[in-house]
Amino acid sequence: MAEDPKAGGGAEDSEGGTDFIRHRIKADLASGHTREVVTRFPPEPNGRLHIGHAMNIVLNFGLARDFDGRCHLRFDDTNPAAESPEFVISQQDDIRWLGFDWGEHGYFASDYFGRLYEYACELIRRGHAFVCDLSSEEIEARRGTLTQPGVESPYRGRSAEESLDLFQRMRAGEFGPGARVLRARIDMASPVLPNRDPLLYRIVDVPHHRTGSEWPIYPLYDFAHSLSDAIEGVSHSICTMEFVDRRPLYDWILEALDLPQPRPQQIEFAGLDLAHTVLSKRKLRLLVEGGQVSGWDDPRMPTLAALRRRGIPPSAIRRFCEEIGVTRNLSTTQMSRFEAAVRSDLNESAQRALGVLRPLRLVVENYPEDESEELDAINNPQDPTAGTRKVPFSRELWIERDDFLEDPPKKFHRLSPGKEVRLRYAYLVTCTEVVKDDAGEVVEVHCRYDPETRGGDAPDGRKVRGTIHWVSARHAVAAEARLYDVLFSSEDPLSQPDLMQDLNPSSLERTEAWVEPFVATAEPGQPIQLERLGYFCLDPDSTPGRPVLNRTVTLRDSWAKIAGRS
Ligand code: ATP
Ligand code: MG
Repeated sequence: MAEDPKAGGGAEDSEGGTDFIRHRIKADLASGHTREVVTRFPPEPNGRLHIGHAMNIVLNFGLARDFDGRCHLRFDDTNPAAESPEFVISQQDDIRWLGFDWGEHGYFASDYFGRLYEYACELIRRGHAFVCDLSSEEIEARRGTLTQPGVESPYRGRSAEESLDLFQRMRAGEFGPGARVLRARIDMASPVLPNRDPLLYRIVDVPHHRTGSEWPIYPLYDFAHSLSDAIEGVSHSICTMEFVDRRPLYDWILEALDLPQPRPQQIEFAGLDLAHTVLSKRKLRLLVEGGQVSGWDDPRMPTLAALRRRGIPPSAIRRFCEEIGVTRNLSTTQMSRFEAAVRSDLNESAQRALGVLRPLRLVVENYPEDESEELDAINNPQDPTAGTRKVPFSRELWIERDDFLEDPPKKFHRLSPGKEVRLRYAYLVTCTEVVKDDAGEVVEVHCRYDPETRGGDAPDGRKVRGTIHWVSARHAVAAEARLYDVLFSSEDPLSQPDLMQDLNPSSLERTEAWVEPFVATAEPGQPIQLERLGYFCLDPDSTPGRPVLNRTVTLRDSWAKIAGRS
């Protein structure tokens, strides 16, 4: 059957492509199975959102946009021990920052505790669930394996009346944690392990941040999730691939309660897996609580709060998520791919500036001691309307330590004794002398400038290959620069025996830098490219007169270099 290209309105993502989920939704709309596209993003408020969530948010809100539907934000708050209202607020903030809005449709699984309890009673009455008195260890021991069937609970044959009575008494708070659970009665021999009489409710003796101590029992994920989707009229419930073998349970719950059609459908896709980091709130929480990072927004973290603090614009994250696309193939995405998306975004928007990360003093011998002048520098070569600014020049400058070598190899085009180099936007200078300390360290370099070369070009047309950056020592502002590397040394930290041992010891380097004065007064988060050094932004740790700069990303793909590809 030919597909109606108009079915479902805009079925293309903003890249103009279409993926298997969009195909599926188009077909559901065309067949009449789906009348309205309703998706949801269901975070648990037990930590800050990370870039994996961003991928989910971009997908779910993107589907709602493309199919004229809506996307709900639903907090999956069924585990009071781990959750807090602060994370509800900060996660909402993260989603808004990323550029998405759930409008009227903000919900909590805890809104439905009453209805979920009624559904559980109904399941018991229908003979589909029973109260089990085994301990969690005993239940685990009877679960069986992929090759061995599980062992049925001795309480499996309990009558509906007895189970209902016990469940009501669980709800009334008569029993302590772990004494009893509610389980589905499905099949202990099922080849699908989650279908082996899974737990639906457990007793938890912890107050909930929204419902207080009203509920001594809490629904488990599969029960709460499928039914919350149904209650909200979700049409497509999109989750990551590890939920594939829980889809039969998702469907079973809706079927066992004979809920009206159309029912929500679970669709799995390959979530984001980013090399050298971990995308799980529970694991990230260990780093925060253990003090391995300075907080959820430590710029080395993969959280949205951290990426924001580091200077990564939300548009770059959206671009990256859309580029990764929606598939069912599990694969690890390299950091270089993320950084490339960030670079192309910042390249268009970042104001350029001069700054020096590891300073070496350069004295221009033939420039008068008490003079200075202002030179024109381009604000953004990608944006002609951004204009130029004045950069002060004087006799004593800071240059990058790496830009000078006393004994350079053949292809070194920067500064070395006797060599001529261009100071960006300023003059051609020739190195005349090297000053060393007692230990033989180069502490100062001297040069002479050619006054005929103002702006950087020689009137006689002589070729000077190297161009280096600099700041005027007298005018520059001292800044702390924070340079970041990946948080974990190995590509897949979770495969390591000890996650903490895999932390990269050089994930943060601090240097004493010098920058052009205006950098100190930039807006927080405003992207600035320090020429040749990378994209930076002011960190909130900055104080008046003491800027702290985060390097958002380097200019070149340093990963390609490591892998020996360029
Ligand atoms: P936890 O470690 O606490 O389970 P989590 O990082 O897995 O945290 P959840 O709150 O369980 O986060 O997930 C919320 C939603 O985000 C779920 O729909 C989940 O499928 C989705 N999600 C989580 N991680 C990723 C990822 N890496 N890529 C895409 N989607 C993800
Ligand atoms: Mg999870």
